[in-house]
Amino acid sequence: MADWLYLIIGIAVLGVALGVGLLSAGRRRRVEPPSAGSDVITTPPPTEAEAPAEAPSPVAPAVETPEGTASRLTRLRERLARSQGGLGRGLLALLSRDRLDEDTWESIEDTLLTADVGVKPTQELVDNLRTRLRVAGDADPRAVLREELLSLVDTELDRRLSVSGADGKPGVVLVVGVNGSGKTTTVGKIARILVAEDRSVVLGAADTFRAAAVEQLATWGERVGVEVVRGPEGSDPASVAFEAVREGVDRGVDTVVVDTAGRLQNKAGLMDELGKVKRVIEKQAPVTEVLLVLDATTGQNGLVQARVFSEVVDVSGIVLTKLDGSAKGGIVVAVQRELGVPVKLVGLGEGADDLAPFDPGAFVDALLG
Ligand code: GDP
Repeated sequence: MADWLYLIIGIAVLGVALGVGLLSAGRRRRVEPPSAGSDVITTPPPTEAEAPAEAPSPVAPAVETPEGTASRLTRLRERLARSQGGLGRGLLALLSRDRLDEDTWESIEDTLLTADVGVKPTQELVDNLRTRLRVAGDADPRAVLREELLSLVDTELDRRLSVSGADGKPGVVLVVGVNGSGKTTTVGKIARILVAEDRSVVLGAADTFRAAAVEQLATWGERVGVEVVRGPEGSDPASVAFEAVREGVDRGVDTVVVDTAGRLQNKAGLMDELGKVKRVIEKQAPVTEVLLVLDATTGQNGLVQARVFSEVVDVSGIVLTKLDGSAKGGIVVAVQRELGVPVKLVGLGEGADDLAPFDPGAFVDALLG
């Protein structure tokens, strides 16, 4: 009798366990449906119809509204002044001395070099300041310095982002840079700027070597209701980039932003990888902007990396991240000179909307306090 009882209980437990297993397998499948003919999958933004069934209200992710341009710019201008103000104030104090002797000019030079302005631009600036302040003995040092800094930063460069495509195709923004520079974060922040401007966006998580980067980007997308195309860890970055742009073309979105892998491997490897990513994308739509992300705190090292990337892809704009954590804003000048490409965006914090277009006037004013 007891044996029968144990047998029946055993069968019941097995049945329940099997049932639970099947259910959870089914649920997993529903979360990540493979797209037809490819191992690349997309994380679509939650639709209103799906949201209640998949997740009841307490856990349904709310779609955020990114900060608008005007408020973002005012807020970030203050942050820029806080991090960079020291440089301009230091220069002004030196230039305002009663006698500009050789020691003072040397200190001015040191101040500029310490702020990563670079040797040649520093020399140019000092020469110009010397000439102008000698010729016009009563010139206002602040006004002269402002003008000279503006011309050094260059007000003539076109700093607009090419985020629109032609012939009904989306604009394609390829974002490159070494790991840790803030590349994935920047892709997320760019998506928010585009969403704030009412543009439709698809993101491609082609940094497939780091599962964390893919997850991170998926979260950025979810937060603002933007679709993220991703592949399994270690899959071919080019195939994810291809699928992302295909998705963007199919859906008729305005812009596709593609994150790329940033392993600092040898130049040939990098060239193969980024070259292939760009080639396959361009089977669908031309790449309209290639942004190189550089960490402003890395100084000369950053410049060396920048050179490698610019030799591998045609960089059209630079994003300088972590300017909030560095007083060395002179890197703006140095990197533009090094690559002959304008700084287009600056990262000023870890917050979701802490990315701003680079504006030379605002930058120089922040330097001068
Ligand atoms: P990736 O490896 O290049 O993709 O770098 P991530 O996007 O993962 O960023 C690396 C770290 O830098 C993260 O902790 C980011 O929050 C941080 N970061 C990115 N941009 C900025 C910035 O402008 N300012 C500051 N303070 N931190 C930033």
